[in-house]
Amino acid sequence: MPQSGQSHILLMRGRLALEELFPGVGAELSAAGAPHFQMGRMPLLGADGWAPIGDYGLDLLCASRPLIEHTIRHRVQAMPRVAMTTRARVNGLTQTPDGAWQVSYDHADATEELRAELVIDASGRSSRLPTWLAELGVPEAKTVTVDAQVGYATRRYTSTRAPGPGVLMMISPTRPRGCMVGPIEDGQWLVTTVGVGADRPGRDEDAFDQHLASMPPTSALEAVREMTPVGEVAVHRQTANVRHRYEDVRRWPQGLLAVGDSLCAVNPVYGHGITVAACQGLRLRTALRAGRSTSTTQRQIAQVTNLPWTMATSQDRMYATSSEPARLQEALIGAWGDQVGRLAMRGSLPAAEVMQRVGHLVSPPTAMFSPRMVAGVARAQLRRRRGTTRGIAARVV
Ligand SMILES: Cc1cc2nc3c(=O)[nH]c(=O)nc-3n(C[C@H](O)[C@H](O)[C@H](O)COP(=O)(O)OP(=O)(O)OC[C@H]3O[C@@H](n4cnc5c(N)ncnc54)[C@H](O)[C@@H]3O)c2cc1C
Repeated sequence: MPQSGQSHILLMRGRLALEELFPGVGAELSAAGAPHFQMGRMPLLGADGWAPIGDYGLDLLCASRPLIEHTIRHRVQAMPRVAMTTRARVNGLTQTPDGAWQVSYDHADATEELRAELVIDASGRSSRLPTWLAELGVPEAKTVTVDAQVGYATRRYTSTRAPGPGVLMMISPTRPRGCMVGPIEDGQWLVTTVGVGADRPGRDEDAFDQHLASMPPTSALEAVREMTPVGEVAVHRQTANVRHRYEDVRRWPQGLLAVGDSLCAVNPVYGHGITVAACQGLRLRTALRAGRSTSTTQRQIAQVTNLPWTMATSQDRMYATSSEPARLQEALIGAWGDQVGRLAMRGSLPAAEVMQRVGHLVSPPTAMFSPRMVAGVARAQLRRRRGTTRGIAARVV
């Protein structure tokens, strides 16, 4: 996978969904060395300053993407009714006159065919499904793209330092540079820098170090200087939000579904991808057990992406680099989110908790509109008008 060298955060909702699909998977990841820590204990820099340190009830597991994948793959492989063909590249999808699917794939220097009743496209951002559907004469699905031109650069390090919460500095339209330092398995750490547009980080090691040095100083960033890099800097720039509206296609073919990034890929800085895929897995399981039609199942799978899509695109449309301007409704919701975020960064633990729980998809966005949040924002506005608000200085953690 092209993104496997990049830092991956497993959101709380994703952890719960994976646990439901594969009971005990969290314990397996821990046994494989993935450290745990509480989200509220990790210094977090948002658009308006540092979030208060506290207990948000979000227990995170930090693992590299390959470890998460290896653990899940192992569980799937152990299922007695599952057979896997490895090192295969699907190159075509056709339908026989009796309506069955014919999947053709390259495998060991030969092209082979597989007949199927149900085909699920989970081939990620590079999915060729739009081309195959066109060849089958299926009406084209509307595709929406919002690209803020975010780029990642990541390097692995070894360290004798005990696993700790690291640091997360989020990018925002007002500060389009971010970074993440976090422990993973095997006593290693992943260090990621994120930039936007012409400021997207490259492979150059000195430029990587300079990008880190330009961030607000923290003890976690200081500690990186003592760590030993393992391998080169890995970069990734395919981060656009891309959504194929397959659920709206009339005459959608029976026995064909799209899930994960092949259906809807969101900007990874919000950490939604694995969580969405896992929640869609749960929807798929329910739909298959209930014998639902393909079109209903595709609609229900697509619904899972609605909230992450809105959260990511409403933010990303605010960037100067974005391919699409912000819409009024999204701008208003985004503006309210900013107010609650500002409250959090001014030290309100309840506001920080709400922001984090909404971000981790364990609380609905309506939690940001609770009477407590509305009262908190109103009080902060009043104080600001009276000029009693003290300026926020970026706190050195
Ligand atoms: C830089 C970056 C950082 C990210 N960070 C996070 C994060 O912090 N948290 C998070 O939850 N998500 C993150 N994501 C998103 C996450 O990686 C994806 O959303 C998630 O992996 C989607 O799963 P998927 O199964 O749909 O696709 P993928 O995981 O991309 O898997 C697709 C698979 O299909 C295979 N494939 C493709 N074409 C074919 C073919 N023709 N034949 C056979 N096989 C094929 C590929 O080799 C791959 O194995 C990040 C993504 C990027 C790019």
